[in-house]
Amino acid sequence: MNRGHIPERTCRSCGRKGPQFGLLRFVVIGGRLVAGQLKSVRGKGIYCCNENVCRERLSRNKKVLKAD
Ligand SMILES: [Zn+2]
Repeated sequence: MNRGHIPERTCRSCGRKGPQFGLLRFVVIGGRLVAGQLKSVRGKGIYCCNENVCRERLSRNKKVLKAD
């Protein structure tokens, strides 16, 4: 039975796909990654696994940081 669409997001660090709630959301503000759970944080949302390895790599990803 189809219980509805679960939004899927892709980790910008490792490319793994997962349900939205399983990934951390960040926003690029002024070339820096800011945890963007708050709706008040504006900007382009970036999703990343909840793992230090992925977050570390993402924070050094110039391509991602330039997306602002
Ligand atoms: Zn990842």
